[in-house]
Amino acid sequence: MNCQELLDLLHDYIGGELVIELHRTVEIHITGCNSCMMLVESYRHTIRLARALPKCERLPAAVEDRLRKFLEPHLGSS
Ligand SMILES: [Zn+2]
Repeated sequence: MNCQELLDLLHDYIGGELVIELHRTVEIHITGCNSCMMLVESYRHTIRLARALPKCERLPAAVEDRLRKFLEPHLGSS
């Protein structure tokens, strides 16, 4: 698994919706890849924030900005 594949699975991984084999594959990648580990932590943190603010429909700008900066190098978009 590479970082792009992990990114494709990230949402389902965080949601606990992956089959166990894929879930393990993701965890193995995260264990050996610091940037993906940080990405997962950041994603989880963002979800926690979003859940803590049920009336807030958009992410706080600072959080969205931070997440976008995390995601951009992984997506390879310019
Ligand atoms: Zn990675």
